[in-house]
Amino acid sequence: MPELPPVLVREPVGPASPMVLDSPHSGMHWPRDFHPVASREAIHTTWDAYVEELWSEAPAAGATLLAATFPRAYVDVNRAEDDIDPDLLAEPWPTPLAPTTYSQRGMGLIRRLALPDVPMYAEPLRIAEVARRIEAYYRPYRRTLAERLDAVHARFGAVWHLDCHSMKSRGNAMNVDAGAARPDFVVSDRHGTTSDPAHTTWLAAWLRDRGHSVQVNTPYQGGDLVRTVGAPSAGRHSIQVEINRACYMDEVTFERGPRFDAMRATLGALVRDFAAYATAHASVHTAAHVRRPAPPPEQADSPPEVVP
Ligand SMILES: [Zn+2]
Repeated sequence: MPELPPVLVREPVGPASPMVLDSPHSGMHWPRDFHPVASREAIHTTWDAYVEELWSEAPAAGATLLAATFPRAYVDVNRAEDDIDPDLLAEPWPTPLAPTTYSQRGMGLIRRLALPDVPMYAEPLRIAEVARRIEAYYRPYRRTLAERLDAVHARFGAVWHLDCHSMKSRGNAMNVDAGAARPDFVVSDRHGTTSDPAHTTWLAAWLRDRGHSVQVNTPYQGGDLVRTVGAPSAGRHSIQVEINRACYMDEVTFERGPRFDAMRATLGALVRDFAAYATAHASVHTAAHVRRPAPPPEQADSPPEVVP
């Protein structure tokens, strides 16, 4: 069976909005060279199950939606490329590594642990194995995301990125909030450094208005994707959104739960409203910048497609 491409891209349907969403952890197509000793059940707990499906109404709201096809347990695109645990490797890595606390907790670029005390691999990995994961999966994913963000930014003068995840309803011993019950949503912008915090606040308030419990920047502050993408002073706003799995699935059987359709409808409405909000802000942003020639007086600052 041919391998799937590392990332699937769903294009906006109808008028585009200045939004790009990505779901980096919802893939479960195992590459041929993925041979963990951890059980499938253990590896499934690392899976942000159905997240790309929950956000599937985003293209109809004018957003581009990217989704990884491969498991995050194979290579995690939400980590820095050099966040590698040297203990995983059978040979020295050819360039300097910078393992972070993610690697220390067993969940760096390449996972050491599927769950606490559950190793991923029987023996250390060869350099060539890890290099292939980076070259054939990690970099194409990152490159595709960067290209889409750049294209939207070039067109609108600003871009809003939602990095879409799900979380266990309770952290385990590998998580920073081990044992704690989690709210329906955690939204984060690394304390206002990856997005204008006003946009993060807007998003959290929208969800709270629909009756959801929301925490901002706790226990998660945002991972490496929002860190890499976000540059609010350049009009690049990147917000991480974590959905509590208990809100939409059975965490034991991994099946969609009775509230799945309602959650998908909520997120569809959120993207539609956020698209309108972002489009209005992009117009202001574009008007405030002189990089583009001024539009003729009879036109709005927005691109023609978004003019009603
Ligand atoms: Zn995730």
